[in-house]
Amino acid sequence: MRIIDLRSDTKTLPTEEMLESIRTAKLGDDVDREDPTVNQLEELAAAKLGKEAGLLITSGHQGNLVAMMTHCNHGDEIFAERNSHLYKFETGSMSAIVGCVPYLLDSNRGTIDPIEFESAIRPPNQHFAKPTLLSIENTHNLWGGAVIHPKSIHALAEVAQNHDIAVHCDGARIFNAAIALEKDIKELVSDCDSVTFCLSKGLSAPVGAVLVGNEEFIDQARRNRKLIGGGMRQAGIIAAPGIVALEKLVDRLREDHKNAQVLSEGLLELDVFDILPVETNLIRLDVSRLGINASEFSSRLKDKGILANLTGQTGIRFVTYRGITHDDIEFALTQIENIISTIT
Ligand SMILES: *Cc1c(COP(=O)(O)O)cnc(C)c1O
Repeated sequence: MRIIDLRSDTKTLPTEEMLESIRTAKLGDDVDREDPTVNQLEELAAAKLGKEAGLLITSGHQGNLVAMMTHCNHGDEIFAERNSHLYKFETGSMSAIVGCVPYLLDSNRGTIDPIEFESAIRPPNQHFAKPTLLSIENTHNLWGGAVIHPKSIHALAEVAQNHDIAVHCDGARIFNAAIALEKDIKELVSDCDSVTFCLSKGLSAPVGAVLVGNEEFIDQARRNRKLIGGGMRQAGIIAAPGIVALEKLVDRLREDHKNAQVLSEGLLELDVFDILPVETNLIRLDVSRLGINASEFSSRLKDKGILANLTGQTGIRFVTYRGITHDDIEFALTQIENIISTIT
């Protein structure tokens, strides 16, 4: 049976060039900073994002974790959007490992209002946790891949700066945001003290993420990565495909966005779904109007070869990525139409 896997852009497999880059990578012991390929990736990532230094980490989660550990002390308060990945999907590591308390803020599709942020910041007082970090998620996963605009980030960063609060960007899909906005990625992160981005999602590398920031921050982050057992030896085998990702696979993200548009327009035409506006490669729909729940709908999809993620009782998420073609999207739409006709 033909299977179209729309669960996540983490399903991308490495390109031939990536596999070849692993075979030919110059390697060394990265804990001693002797792996030339890791060093090259870290420099390349820092340069692309306009930051001083970079650090290869195993995953986006580890990047957020190390960033929080580096910005904060135990007992500090971290501001994050209510539906942010680092609060909802990272095993509670913000409290379990970093030892911080979250302060969750509402948003407009992932964009936090700077006035609301400022009013949440409490003055120094022995009763209060010390507010030290604001995390922004761009693109915003649970808000359907919504893009956070540089202007909004700037306004939040101004407030943060006035209160001596650092700004971290969970940019697992920051390159998708840059492509969607047609802007240089530097502009999207210039107001952020640190940024994590994933190599292993739309950028198609098999493993890894990079954390960037200033040199002092990255030096401390390197210590913290070691603290949680994240020092790696011949990590050039991870970095090599990461370099290919950054050099060759950024621009093609626009194809994923195009496919996401085609899919969402096709779904809208069926007139049975409520769909969040699609800005990048994520499509979030609500199936309530079909009169069945998401779990039932996804199992019907699966019967037809279409794999999707559940997001709550009535939510379904589709993701486009390299490996999902325009033809796959057309096929998926036909299958979904067939399913609908048996329900309504
Ligand atoms: C996927 C994702 C992460 C975590 O990345 P992993 O590499 O899967 O650990 C963090 N934040 C956001 C917004 C994500 O979508």
